[in-house]
Amino acid sequence: MADRTRSAELFERACQVIPGGVNSPVRSFRSVGGHPYFVARGEGAYVWDADGNRLLDFVQSYGASILGHAHPAVVRAVGDAAARGTTFGAPTEGEVLLAEAICARVEGCDQVRLVSSGTEAAMSAIRVARGFTGRSRIVKFAGCYHGHSDGLLAGGGSGVATLGLPDSAGVPAQAVADTVVAPYNLVPDLDDRVACVIVEAVAANMGLVPPVDGFLEGLRVACDAVGALLVFDEVITGFRLGEGGASGWSGVRPDLWCFGKVIGGGLPVGAFGGRADVLSVLAPSGAVYQAGTLSGNPLATAAGLAVLHELDTGSYAALSARVASFAASLQDVLNGALATAGRVDDRGRPLVALVPVVGPLFGLFFAPMGSGPVRDYGGAVASADTGVYAAFFRAMLARGVALAPGPYEVAFPSMAHGEPELEHTLDVASEAIADALAG
Ligand SMILES: *Cc1c(COP(=O)(O)O)cnc(C)c1O
Repeated sequence: MADRTRSAELFERACQVIPGGVNSPVRSFRSVGGHPYFVARGEGAYVWDADGNRLLDFVQSYGASILGHAHPAVVRAVGDAAARGTTFGAPTEGEVLLAEAICARVEGCDQVRLVSSGTEAAMSAIRVARGFTGRSRIVKFAGCYHGHSDGLLAGGGSGVATLGLPDSAGVPAQAVADTVVAPYNLVPDLDDRVACVIVEAVAANMGLVPPVDGFLEGLRVACDAVGALLVFDEVITGFRLGEGGASGWSGVRPDLWCFGKVIGGGLPVGAFGGRADVLSVLAPSGAVYQAGTLSGNPLATAAGLAVLHELDTGSYAALSARVASFAASLQDVLNGALATAGRVDDRGRPLVALVPVVGPLFGLFFAPMGSGPVRDYGGAVASADTGVYAAFFRAMLARGVALAPGPYEVAFPSMAHGEPELEHTLDVASEAIADALAG
């Protein structure tokens, strides 16, 4: 076992001065046991923890690092930008360049406004949709995550369309009274009270759940029929599935997009954008207020631009091909071990491993046999409830491979994850799953 004394000490100190010891709950090890490793530095596909252990990192800041850690082009861009001053409160050229780079890659996205997080991007897109349509109601899908603003913190746990009940304490019922939660992969009935439908076009916050044929197309038609706007939350999928994100991947064009993660190159960034006529409601041109002291921050725009310049169709295709072949092998390895161990769930059903892939993203479900591919939040919960993920996670981490410490996250192989890293992961996985099932 790797020595994690220093991480343990840091976590103990963190718990004194930071609620729960972490600044975002996904970093906690609550659902997998133990305490988080503290990262001292990263390079490419790897991080080193505070005790000097090297970990092959599939977390990659939950998708914010697509080039791998400390990519030289990003380090240089951030350093140069910092030397020129970190924030001014007046427009900078970097904002124009990043907005141009985004709009050039995403067909139909005429304009973007930069913010500092994905949460702000989704919150602001909703406000724009309400301002543009003059309507209040929004529709989201169970299992989709759109940041932690009050009105969007509903429907982590609901499998049926319900008029919003808050999922988090501290969110007043009124704040989600206009939020309708519908099951993913079913086109909901809409009416002319709906301002917008917001969706992760490829869901990546309940494990990886691709849209079924016709779902996104159906949403487009349903929105158009009642004059509602369609919002794609591409905070994960944007510039991740390919240059055109999920809208390019699916061919379905929303009215508004939310971006984050990749476009900040590891610095705090978000963006929302879309049709120019819709965005014209924003202040200072229009009556919908939205603002930010650090929005379009010079360091963040420099990092984001450096990242987008490193990526092209070929690099996405190569990574996606590597991951597709790896994922198929991983699924075989895991299923071999599950069959050998004869592992069943608490209702006596044999368990199977499902490793869905979309572009360079992959997910991991340990599901009851016969349930088919996971299509919605209910399926994701059923897989998480089998408890195998947590044991597998611990066995992988003990062998130096870091997955996300929770069964609802996806894996984010970066451009720095080459054949050797993926092959090594397979070798480790075959030992780890045996260990996990024996325990
Ligand atoms: C991460 C995420 C967000 C929130 O972004 P933050 O930068 O964490 O605020 C919103 N939507 C989706 C789909 C995400 O994955």
